[in-house]
Amino acid sequence: MKPLNFRTKIVATIGPASNSPDVLRQMMLAGMSVARLNFSHGSYEDHGQMVKLLRQLSQELDLPLTILQDLQGPKIRVGELPKEGITLKEGSSLTLVPLAEWNNQANTVGIDYPYVAEEAQQGTQVLLDDGLLELSVQTVQGNAVTCKVVGGGILKSHKGVNFPSLTLRLPSMTEKDKKDLEFGISQGVDIISLSFVRQAEDIKTLKAFLEAKKVDIPVLAKIEKPQAIEHLEAIVDECDAIMVARGDLGVEMRPEKVPLLQKHIIRMCNQKGIPVITATQMLDSMIRNPRPTRAEASDVANAIIDGTDAVMLSGESAIGDFPVQAVTMLASIARDIEPEITFTNYPPRHKDKADALAEALNAIDKVLDLQCIVTFTETGYSAKLAAAERPKVPVVALTPNLEVYHHLNLVWGVRPVLFQYDELTLEALLKKMESELLKRNFVAQGDQVLILGGLPLRQARSTSFLDIYTIGEN
Ligand code: PEP
Repeated sequence: MKPLNFRTKIVATIGPASNSPDVLRQMMLAGMSVARLNFSHGSYEDHGQMVKLLRQLSQELDLPLTILQDLQGPKIRVGELPKEGITLKEGSSLTLVPLAEWNNQANTVGIDYPYVAEEAQQGTQVLLDDGLLELSVQTVQGNAVTCKVVGGGILKSHKGVNFPSLTLRLPSMTEKDKKDLEFGISQGVDIISLSFVRQAEDIKTLKAFLEAKKVDIPVLAKIEKPQAIEHLEAIVDECDAIMVARGDLGVEMRPEKVPLLQKHIIRMCNQKGIPVITATQMLDSMIRNPRPTRAEASDVANAIIDGTDAVMLSGESAIGDFPVQAVTMLASIARDIEPEITFTNYPPRHKDKADALAEALNAIDKVLDLQCIVTFTETGYSAKLAAAERPKVPVVALTPNLEVYHHLNLVWGVRPVLFQYDELTLEALLKKMESELLKRNFVAQGDQVLILGGLPLRQARSTSFLDIYTIGEN
């Protein structure tokens, strides 16, 4: 069944390298499910045009495509520096001052954190540019924090600043985030991710903002701070999706902590049925080369084996030379790895009818040669339940709800299809289902599919029956 031949979802960050209909079309055909618009970069005009283009391509190709708006969150950055950057030599001094008080003095850099001098102490570690450069605080005088360069290199404008040991006095959503969010809402984005989440309250603040705007958009927490690890369970319980944001996580908590944290976060999300994305540097060398390193191929495979729903491209698809090849490579690794995985999701989370049916679904999938599992899903619940069993075959989610359609497109193994089932009898519904599956080449005459559904039809969480159905039999 060609159209559904791998189940791991691919998130690709859009940027100059992928900013053309032709490249995007090829990325979608290669398997991109989610386009990530990174609001740390780009103008509203660019993002707005991109949303329009992505919607057009999704229609043209008749493929689901989910648009993820990634809010910058409370990230500290350095100010504007000379175009070539400034060279930091190991052993030399660099003074950090709040951006508002910075006058471009020599050996001084402004950062957009007004409390830096109140909080830093001798020995405080400062990491710049995703940890590529390292400083250690020597003295604090007035509003100036003088540091020794421990790891040198070139520092360029607007690079990120991390203080791994400090609990920063920053709001969970900045004024920029609020403006960006209003813009995203006006553009009809499908999922919103918040960066540098520290606690469940941060997600509640985002949800309250959305509620005040009278919109119901799924929210995703990026896990990249030590505080988020401390409050992980409460954050996962508050969210619709999670991202293991390994870039900043590996800066805030050291790279050697990332592999086990990745497994821990994915396991928790799998157990709770929350979709999870593994992100950053998955095929980093493909920014410059048409083939990945063996270590990168292994990293992608291992994230899939860990149970991630989705893998993400950042620079590879945003600024790299091989965006289409990078998507193709992720899909190819997924195709090779998925059949080899044995995944257990037992015992079920709840002892109710729906979870019992999911267990039965798993057993049937092992015995019969099914083509797919079909769910009629109003809220996405049944589709996620079926996918959580990691069946051998794809889960086709027939839903009348556009938001659910876009959200499910992030879930491992689920192929959402927009499908109206108002005022139909079960018999008419099955007939309509059959022609939809045939039309899309998901099945052929005589194929067996397993239906997981609920009666009454449009009632949320009414999952109540399993039916083994042969195409063309009725
Ligand atoms: C990350 O830090 O891994 C991440 C995905 O966030 P961003 O790309 O926004 O820095």
